[in-house]
Amino acid sequence: MNNCLRAIELMERISGCTTGSCSPFYRTEPVGVQGHEWYINAVISLSTHLSAHRLIVQLQAIEKVMGRKRERKWAPRPIDLDILIFGQEILKNKDLMVPHPLMHLRRFVLVPMVDLAPDLVHPVLGKRMIDLLTALPEEGQTVIPVGET
Ligand code: ATP
Ligand code: CA
Ligand code: CA
Repeated sequence: MNNCLRAIELMERISGCTTGSCSPFYRTEPVGVQGHEWYINAVISLSTHLSAHRLIVQLQAIEKVMGRKRERKWAPRPIDLDILIFGQEILKNKDLMVPHPLMHLRRFVLVPMVDLAPDLVHPVLGKRMIDLLTALPEEGQTVIPVGET
């Protein structure tokens, strides 16, 4: 959790970027991998005049200074900063897919996203965040607010 707080501090320092609301933090069951600890997940809104590409470069620099190494996919790591939605933009580069291609399948994304923007419409699927969340089964994707455990 301290890592998330530190990452938010560092995002506040990105030039050309202003941090807005942050969701509560959640403890979330690992999805797609077995046998490691639960993650902490949250969603934060940023306002920026940077392009999505410039923003992801900045976010990856923060991951690096926080000690992230390139490991196998979904290994535990100090921090993971993804762009979920970037306005209504749709980007399909391998290096940057926006909206994040798995966000609509992940309760650990949609629960905090709905805290911030329940009526935000997914630019590809044309559905509101709240409706995407309601459609997902909870099984195997437990998401618990920090403090309730
Ligand atoms: P997942 O994509 O399932 O959430 P991950 O976040 O663990 O997995 P990473 O190893 O952090 O995956 O990132 C792999 C690559 O994904 C990065 O090098 C980055 O260029 C690319 N990428 C594509 N779209 C995005 C996005 N919307 N946000 C962040 N990275 C992205
Ligand atoms: Ca991720
Ligand atoms: Ca990532």
